[in-house]
Amino acid sequence: MDDTAPQIPAPSARLVAYGPIRRLLHGLARGCGRALAPCLTLGLLALPASAATEEAMPAQVSADAQADGSHHITSGGATGPAIAHDARLAGDGVRTRMIVDLDRTVEIRAFTLSNPYRVVLDLKDVTFRMEPEAGQRKRGLVSAYRYGVFAPGKARMVLDVTGPVAIDKAFILDAIEDQPARLVVDLVQTDDESFTKAVADSAALRAESAPAHPQPGPAAEEDGRPVVVLDPGHGGIDSGTTGYSAYTEKSIVLETALALRDKLERTGAYRVVLTRSTDTFVALGERVNIARKNKADLFISIHADALARNDGQARGASVYTLSEKASDTDAARLAEQENKADLIAGINLSDETDAVADILVELAHRETRNFSARFAHELVGSMKNRVNTHRIPLRSAGFRVLRAHDVPSVLVELGYMSSPEDLKQLTSEVWRDRMTDALLEATNRFFADRIATAAQDRTDTTGSIAARPGG
Ligand SMILES: [Zn+2]
Repeated sequence: MDDTAPQIPAPSARLVAYGPIRRLLHGLARGCGRALAPCLTLGLLALPASAATEEAMPAQVSADAQADGSHHITSGGATGPAIAHDARLAGDGVRTRMIVDLDRTVEIRAFTLSNPYRVVLDLKDVTFRMEPEAGQRKRGLVSAYRYGVFAPGKARMVLDVTGPVAIDKAFILDAIEDQPARLVVDLVQTDDESFTKAVADSAALRAESAPAHPQPGPAAEEDGRPVVVLDPGHGGIDSGTTGYSAYTEKSIVLETALALRDKLERTGAYRVVLTRSTDTFVALGERVNIARKNKADLFISIHADALARNDGQARGASVYTLSEKASDTDAARLAEQENKADLIAGINLSDETDAVADILVELAHRETRNFSARFAHELVGSMKNRVNTHRIPLRSAGFRVLRAHDVPSVLVELGYMSSPEDLKQLTSEVWRDRMTDALLEATNRFFADRIATAAQDRTDTTGSIAARPGG
């Protein structure tokens, strides 16, 4: 990893062209009317009338107050996603500015989240073509940031901030002369009380609008075949781990899941559902919902691990099942890391924390647990003949994505991206073929009885097929 991030230009060098937006924002501020405070909460600058200065408002930019109380700045005419091609931070620990270069103006929405302190920027229909290390830059109030697809047509940037901040300004500048269109966000230090209030206000406003996440579509027709839900971890804004490599966990696990889907489908014996088949973020709870909605008979979450630098040389694949108490400290560390996915993507977890704790204490039904353990054993057996496995290949911990009480669920860690040997395997087609063979064999063994008797069952009663294997 290269720590020598490109030089960030001083604010003054970049912060020309304030003028055009002032008039625009003045208009917005008036539009806010009595709801001025929420407008500020949502990051839009309300300038006094005197601030509307000499420069004309860019012709193609328009602004509309949305039903959710936020303001969306739009441009007309352009088709296809806008491209974000660079991002810079400027300022200090009192006031920090983020600037994102765009090839055209887009709708934006900005809000803050607590636990931990984050700033979320939602951008309509943007793809990112930034340098891979861009998100590791930090300056002033921003300690790191991430960006990527959050939902279809919706991109998101999540800024980790060092403490309570207020969004002083968040706006889009139209391209002017040799400057591209830009997203500009100014963060200022604030106190915890103001921060908490701003989080609550903006959450209330967002709650009035459409749900943040598209609900998974209706489950496909049941046809008696076992339903296998494959869950490639992470995606979109959440890249997963990199193990200090040029690869991302999200793409390695997606490729493996797609290859496994093809193999499972080729048997004709299963109906296969993916929680994601593209580079899109899917929240942990949604993954569980997809499994339950499709009445999954088996849920396989696919991930890759990485250790911190100087934290040992672990190698090999492992299979995890859900347990209240982690089987070892490494499993506990991993579960904690994997459970952070929603937080990384800028989802407010404060409402969910208690429910998750309850579910994990209650755990899955005993029957489901038994099936999960059975599949995990099958899988470890199948893997041992084909790929490197961890010295303790069967482990357990409190993974949130394994919490469906009625779906046998395992989480497979394909290997350690922090190990050069493992990484070489994880990114090779030969290895992927072996790993997916192992997963296919274990799945076949897990459902062997059921597939053999399925035809018989179908003639007996239409309902019995839906029973769990052996149950
Ligand atoms: Zn992961």
